[in-house]
Amino acid sequence: MATFQAPKGTYDLIPPVSVKYLAVREAIAAPLRNSGYGYIETPGFEDVGLFARGVGESTDIVSKEMYAFETKGGDQLALRPEGTASVLRAALEASLHKKGNLPVKLWYSGSYYRYEKPQKGRYRHFSQVGAEAIGAEDPALDAELIILADQAYRSLGLRNFRILLNSLGDKECRPVYREALQSFLSGLDLDEETVRRAEINPLRVLDDKRTDVQKQLVGAPALRDYLCDACKAYHEEVRTLVTAAGVAFEDDEKLVRGLDYYTRTTFEFVHDGLGSQSAVGGGGRYDGLSEMIGGPALPSVGWALGVDRTVLALEAEGIDLGIPAATSVFAVALGEEARRVLFGKVTELRRAGVAADFSYGGKGLKGSMKDANRSGARLTVVAGERDLAEGVVQLKDMESGEQAPVALADLVDAVRARLA
Ligand code: AMP
Repeated sequence: MATFQAPKGTYDLIPPVSVKYLAVREAIAAPLRNSGYGYIETPGFEDVGLFARGVGESTDIVSKEMYAFETKGGDQLALRPEGTASVLRAALEASLHKKGNLPVKLWYSGSYYRYEKPQKGRYRHFSQVGAEAIGAEDPALDAELIILADQAYRSLGLRNFRILLNSLGDKECRPVYREALQSFLSGLDLDEETVRRAEINPLRVLDDKRTDVQKQLVGAPALRDYLCDACKAYHEEVRTLVTAAGVAFEDDEKLVRGLDYYTRTTFEFVHDGLGSQSAVGGGGRYDGLSEMIGGPALPSVGWALGVDRTVLALEAEGIDLGIPAATSVFAVALGEEARRVLFGKVTELRRAGVAADFSYGGKGLKGSMKDANRSGARLTVVAGERDLAEGVVQLKDMESGEQAPVALADLVDAVRARLA
């Protein structure tokens, strides 16, 4: 019979590497939990209209990459391609914004799906940890999120990343810029698809990675020159606060990002060791999104950091997270009676909070000691019939190789003392 494989563009997280993913998620979540963000979980799929309206019909994410489908009941759904629209939908549905406690600060962690052309760092199923601060227009919130992402990456030991920062203006100044840009673009020699993009979302043409397009874009009107005074002042304040926190960033005029809902502050974290898929995370302000999905005006800001690419960044920098072995004590039982007694001791150790594992499968001493080594445990408990007859087990330190008998009744205390 044919065997099955993980679908194209996906991969499995398998021990020992999978612990890195847990550690990365935890490292990103920790500063958020520590800063007033509450945990939220939403379904893996939503009404397709939420993303069409929220993320934008013209974006690649919605027009080309969405896993959209009709259910047996006739509902039009889509696997979530990103987190912000879902989190805002959930916050509105639960009326979190009406409880007089704005901003609502939420964090999440989960799987996202995009039908992309798979390559290193670009998958069809990937994992993000994200944060959203909903319902307040305050440059300190934008700064807070940038600083917390920086803190998360640094806590993992990452150093070779850069923060790119830009302002996309608001509903006052962006339309004026948009028109100026459109009129500039209409004079260029662009392919049909790009011409269409220029009509729907001209700012995204600036993001075109092709060198021939970039050459033509020299001399394009700059958004910086079109920002209204309110947007300029807001952006200056964000820059001042981030700088005061000692977090370095680069102003990047070309940073527009692939989602339509962004206004004012946008930022991206790029890592220099990742080749073409260099963005490890990104986000920005989305003051108009709530209204786009049928809610009240709720100016908000958020980011999502990619877990897969963060793991690749750790590898690129050669960072060993120094994650300790999951098992502290490994029990090796020789003979039926010893199995029963030691299995009981393992249960006792676990209940006392010690990470313990057992030599299953009826292996001999040699095979069981191999298992003990592989587990990474610092201590091994070995017992055979003769030990038990004397009321002891042999406690072996796997680093020094020293071994000494310990009274069975004292085992849990002795292990705890050794591990302390
Ligand atoms: P975006 O919503 O596109 O700004 O994505 C935010 C972050 O999620 C990116 O910076 C990446 O780290 C990660 N990400 C987005 N798409 C993918 C993908 N197809 N495969 C792996 N990671 C992704």
